[in-house]
Amino acid sequence: MQEFTYVRQAARVVFGAGTLARLREEVERLGCSRAVVLTTARQAGLVARARELLGPLAAGEFTRAVAHTPTDVTASALDLVRELGADCVVAIGGGSTTGLSKALAVRTGLPQIIVPTTYAGSEVTPVLGETDNGVKTTQSSPEILPETVVYDVDLTLGLPVPISVTSGVNAMAHAIEALYAPQANPVTDELALRSIALMSAALPGIAADPTDREARADALQAAWLAGTCLGAVGMGLHHRLCHILGGSFGLPHAATHTVVLPHVMAYNAGAAPDAMRRIAGALGAADAPAAVYDLVSALHGPVSLGELGLREENLARVVELAVGASYPNPREITADGVAALLRDAWEGRGPA
Ligand code: NAD
Repeated sequence: MQEFTYVRQAARVVFGAGTLARLREEVERLGCSRAVVLTTARQAGLVARARELLGPLAAGEFTRAVAHTPTDVTASALDLVRELGADCVVAIGGGSTTGLSKALAVRTGLPQIIVPTTYAGSEVTPVLGETDNGVKTTQSSPEILPETVVYDVDLTLGLPVPISVTSGVNAMAHAIEALYAPQANPVTDELALRSIALMSAALPGIAADPTDREARADALQAAWLAGTCLGAVGMGLHHRLCHILGGSFGLPHAATHTVVLPHVMAYNAGAAPDAMRRIAGALGAADAPAAVYDLVSALHGPVSLGELGLREENLARVVELAVGASYPNPREITADGVAALLRDAWEGRGPA
């Protein structure tokens, strides 16, 4: 018998195509009237659209969200929020924009409406990762969790295929590690399996036609389900390694997940045979780690940490950091084991 504790995360989720049009209604629903809109410089074009939709409820915008939520960027955004007298945050973008929104919410208590445009899943987790002087720390609290998520499939149609692939595998990583987490429960298990099946089928469709609305809808739904798992149970070796590689060595978030995932799956396979069998079933394959590696290769995604810019001489330091921390993982973390899997991931070999 499986024993578990499950805590439901109470976010309101609006899902569809063209749902950005409901932005004003969602701001009003929160009882707010002065929204500050956040995004990245690359997506700054979305601000005019948001302003038009929000009308008099648009108080201003901040278009300088960047990866890993640096505290100096948050400080600038916070000054603007105070200057504008904003009473809610509207974030339109990927995990980087969502991270800035969460950083503002945790400092001000302002409610958040998140409009995700990648598959990172951060919008449904109570977790915030921030960097201060190059050191990344993570905190979790109920105030970090956004009040409302508006998924608009149309905003993802222009997400470039390479980012769609890496971001999609980032989502798969949340679902896969949820299946062997100590807090795994029937709710997260079903969400995770559905997410893996949807995402693995959607990505080839998106690569073939990035404007395929059905494939995009499946991927976005898979991202939501996977993010829900990430917010509900603890993550293992895979997330720990990616946190180290991103936080301490500056590697790109989603691409790093994409390279590392099949190797950690292979490392854990013998210690989590039931989870791995179910993951293989969701992927429609005999061997789960090989199937993830093959999917990434077929979609021309990254397979090597060397290719992502990790220097060979840094491998030993990554092992040291991974072994020196405590976190749940089905297989014991050994320096030799982690070194071997990192070596394979660095060289771009298939999972052992
Ligand atoms: P990102 O938000 O940095 O986006 C990558 C790039 O794609 C950016 O330049 C962005 O402007 C652009 N982009 C996003 N959507 C687009 C679209 N639809 N069309 C065109 N361009 C688009 O990348 P990400 O992988 O979504 O997020 C990574 C960040 O999120 C990291 O800082 C990571 O730590 C964090 N994260 C946090 C959690 C959590 O639960 N706290 C979960 C996952 C990721």
